[in-house]
Amino acid sequence: MPEQLGSVLIANRGEIALRIIRACQELGIRSVLAYSEADRESLPVKLADQAVCIGPANSVKSYRDPQAIISAALAFQVDAIHPGYGFLAENADFAALCEQEGIGFVGPASDIIRRMGDKIEAKKIARAAGVPTVPGSLGAIAQYDEALTVASEVGYPLLIKAAAGGGGRGMRVVESGETLERDLSEIMSEAETAFGDPSVYIERYLTDIRHIEIQVMSDGQSTVHLGERDCTAQRRNQKLIEEAPSPVLDDELREGLAQAAVALCQEVKYRNAGTVEFVFDNIERQYYFIEMNTRIQVEHPVSEMVTGIDLIKLQLEIAAGNPLPLTQDDIVIRGHAIECRINAEDPQKGFLPNPGRIENFRAPGGFGVRLDTHIETGYVIPPFYDSMVGKLIVWGQDRDEAISRALRAIEEMQIDGVTTTAQFQGEILASDVFRSGDFNTAFVAKFLADQVS
Ligand code: ADP
Ligand code: ADP
Ligand code: MG
Repeated sequence: MPEQLGSVLIANRGEIALRIIRACQELGIRSVLAYSEADRESLPVKLADQAVCIGPANSVKSYRDPQAIISAALAFQVDAIHPGYGFLAENADFAALCEQEGIGFVGPASDIIRRMGDKIEAKKIARAAGVPTVPGSLGAIAQYDEALTVASEVGYPLLIKAAAGGGGRGMRVVESGETLERDLSEIMSEAETAFGDPSVYIERYLTDIRHIEIQVMSDGQSTVHLGERDCTAQRRNQKLIEEAPSPVLDDELREGLAQAAVALCQEVKYRNAGTVEFVFDNIERQYYFIEMNTRIQVEHPVSEMVTGIDLIKLQLEIAAGNPLPLTQDDIVIRGHAIECRINAEDPQKGFLPNPGRIENFRAPGGFGVRLDTHIETGYVIPPFYDSMVGKLIVWGQDRDEAISRALRAIEEMQIDGVTTTAQFQGEILASDVFRSGDFNTAFVAKFLADQVS
């Protein structure tokens, strides 16, 4: 029998808090939920074994406050903290604090979070591991003349990216040399304000690409992968629909991507769950590493559905100090899975967040349908946090069946009182372009523009 954690504090909210509570319950691990005043009435608070209010609605003083969370963890004498995604999940200082206090952190060691969290450093590590990276600057760009030199090599349009960026923020496309100097200084000060780090770097801006990422799991010694997820359906560099397997990869490319991700993890002796993200050039059919997320991702259920493996349980097992309980040969991809992120946003109003009271809620069901959500009838979506209110995940024997099933589930689902992205996602899934599988990261924006005109 593997070693097991006795108790875990969950430093997050919403659907991911619920997801972790459920895994803990199945494993017999005591779950303690740390919540903010705004989430007092939420489903995760009701379902956790224990719950503790750690501060006000403002996440800086609750979900993002390392001391508030450490204090709760010590008071409830938990063995480990699961950070979920967002908030403190990729905060190296917080992971280091856990290490100092002797509290387990469900994730990699703090020094790995620090190195991978710096996208410039991560690209250097990728290159050292022999993984192709997007052509661009080798390090940070601080001066206009350095930017000019790189620009003459990579050409226009180019992309200036913040080393500490994330969540689709901290990126700017530069169309021509005319605006380069101004764009550089603006994005540097934006990065300083948003992430506390002005470091930026330059990449070639690729215009006909897909986003394909590899789910990995490591124990500090060895690494397995759980195949790829295709997250090409994005709006403003943020994922809207994810699927696995990718409709465009052949076996050789698929294996190349997976082995690149594994090589990167082995290079840093990675531990716990991670995702290695790539962009895939449709024309050249070549992949390039862009970044690694050192945490569980929003879209992890897509991989769970096609492998039958519970990634949160695996995270908890690794965090308890066990070696990987499976080998690469144990992992078999079966069928096709699609996830829609249900955001309380209005696609017709530029995805404007739309918090409020859910007057009536009906969950979809049936074979191959999974809904990960914390919403209920009467739930009031607070305005303080991310607008994602749930994820609809479907499994089908093949891509066509998964699409039909997703459309059926979206029809069945009812969320009255607030506008969500669900209907729009249904329109995308039903479109000929999505069904063909032949599209790029510009597809959603174009689809929306065509609808409006
Ligand atoms: P990925 O899809 O790669 O996991 P994202 O950047 O979309 O990456 O996910 C992390 C984002 O999720 C954060 O930027 C944050 O805004 C958001 N987030 C953090 N916590 C939650 C939560 N509990 N519910 C919904 N969204 C959250
Ligand atoms: P984040 O940390 O915000 O997730 P990423 O580096 O993962 O940032 O990039 C997010 C998205 O931005 C990618 O999925 C892709 O759509 C787009 N993107 C990133 N790098 C490039 C690039 N060099 N050219 C074109 N698009 C890019
Ligand atoms: Mg990313």
